[in-house]
Amino acid sequence: MPSIQVLDQNTINQIAAGEVIERPSSVAKELLENAIDAKATAITVEIKDGGISFIRITDNGCGIKPEEISLAFLRHSTSKIRTVEDLLTVSSLGFRGEALSSIASVAQVELITKIPEALNGARYLIEGGQEQKVEEVGCPEGTTFLIRNLFFNTPARKKFLKTAQTEAGYIAEVVERIALSHPEISIRFIHNNQNKLHTSGNGSLKDIIYQVYGREITANLFSINTESNFGNIQGFIGKPLISRGNRSFENYYVNGRYIRSQIIARAIEDAYQPYLMQHKYPFVVFNLSIKPELLDINVHPTKMELRFRNSQEVYEFIKDSMTKTLGHKELIPEIELKEIDKKPLPIENAHQKPSYRIPEPFETKRMEEIMEYTGGYTANPELPSSPKKEEEKVPEQLNLPVQLLSEEAKPQHKIIGQLFQTYWLVELQDKFYFIDQHAAHEKVLYEKIIKNLKNKEYVSQLLQPPIIVTLDLKQETLLKQNIKSFEEIGFTVEPFGGREYAVSAVPYNLFGLVSKEVFLEMLDHLLEEGKGNTQTLLLEQIASMSCKTAVKGNFSLSTEEAKSLIDQLLTLENPYHCPHGRPTIIAMTKTEIERKFKRIL
Ligand code: ADP
Ligand code: MG
Repeated sequence: MPSIQVLDQNTINQIAAGEVIERPSSVAKELLENAIDAKATAITVEIKDGGISFIRITDNGCGIKPEEISLAFLRHSTSKIRTVEDLLTVSSLGFRGEALSSIASVAQVELITKIPEALNGARYLIEGGQEQKVEEVGCPEGTTFLIRNLFFNTPARKKFLKTAQTEAGYIAEVVERIALSHPEISIRFIHNNQNKLHTSGNGSLKDIIYQVYGREITANLFSINTESNFGNIQGFIGKPLISRGNRSFENYYVNGRYIRSQIIARAIEDAYQPYLMQHKYPFVVFNLSIKPELLDINVHPTKMELRFRNSQEVYEFIKDSMTKTLGHKELIPEIELKEIDKKPLPIENAHQKPSYRIPEPFETKRMEEIMEYTGGYTANPELPSSPKKEEEKVPEQLNLPVQLLSEEAKPQHKIIGQLFQTYWLVELQDKFYFIDQHAAHEKVLYEKIIKNLKNKEYVSQLLQPPIIVTLDLKQETLLKQNIKSFEEIGFTVEPFGGREYAVSAVPYNLFGLVSKEVFLEMLDHLLEEGKGNTQTLLLEQIASMSCKTAVKGNFSLSTEEAKSLIDQLLTLENPYHCPHGRPTIIAMTKTEIERKFKRIL
């Protein structure tokens, strides 16, 4: 065994760099955060070659005093905290004092900086942790960092980088996230001499959402602004129709810091759950301001994860805020008609970043089916053309006309008839609506079950003879643990000897639907989902089974029956989505039709 030795500082820094600086986007993140902490009001990020060969970040912040420059590049040197106690109230984005030392240990760094009080600025060069040069230079106030040839001295790390295009994409994400969390700072992003983003710094979050995500998203937002005794939430949350298949639309910040938090993600997703299909995630951009003493920020080296002292309260606050914002809103997706382009859209190429592709909302697919019969027009939502020009204005929110599902609108409903034995067409003012009778009926039934259950008005239906099920050990344990939940919604399940159980009563609306297999399936579903509220899980299942008794598509309803269905929808909390998150209603405006007939241009 070789002798034990303390590692030299540069080796220590390189090891630390492994934690903090994983790729060019980590450099961009750290330097952007430093610029924000330096109170900059304008920041420019310029990269070449995905940031691997060149990153330049210029800010107009407070600058660094010449005598403190080399100090700033030492490990654990920071101007932001002095003691551990300061951690409790720190409001800056960084405070560990590791970024500059880490970056300098694995790249060639040039720093040009000037504080307002000094006549001249300083230029400082450091490469692979070795100081090269310090000199006085004339320069504007603020700080510029140039980072060249990242990982030039650690080829093994360089090998793990992806293509320049992909790395550039990661940096763009970082810049956009930071721009979204700081509408008051003008942020500019240039890649290979092309301007990719330039925010005005006018403080309008909506303007930035528009620049980053485009018109479609911006036109489908609700603003959120709620307060509790420990903090507040401000921002925008998307209508369910602009959801997507992964969590990349979930942008949330805590005290201006982009973080990951399971608590917050769960609160958001639970609030949207009644409105979204499974495996769909909502669009949100909001900041949670919370007293710093309620946070434990020091959990993760790159500070992406944090802990709340009062996580349950935070969960409930966020979920309630969203639920309130989403509730009582007319959530009917509007469709626009576009000429069918027979060629598939070259989406991957048309957009710099495929991750910003707006997923085609499911309802448009149905429209497409309908439109196939009507001369080849389809509802294809406009894709955002990125990046947006600065002078483009954010579209104004419409003042909403009478809501379809309101008492005042009821006498004005003009039921035109049924389409394809599945959809009801209803005219109201200058719009017409397609109601999916199956989805609508499903939703009505579902809400009824929930309501009955909440009011304990469930009815059991006796089964003669009972269903005998044989359970394995896991299923048996699960049944025993949750027997109360089963009984509360109308099941009677009794031991029948050994591992056998007799199901002798079921909720009335499952009568004729529960078989041995279905009952076992319910247990297995509980098993799979593991934690969570059994009652809710069982309810979801009952709901999905109750669809089977709902009016199916391809089935004639009389106009009277359709009217009563619409009346019943009217009474629901969220009439716009079926229990599985599919829309029950979609709308089209008279203007859209007139445009198609070229009555208006
Ligand atoms: P931390 O941000 O955790 O304090 P860093 O290594 O990122 O550590 O930076 C070290 C110090 O250098 C900061 O505390 C700050 O005083 C100074 N600094 C870094 N970047 C800038 C900047 N753009 N403008 C002014 N000061 C800066
Ligand atoms: Mg920092």
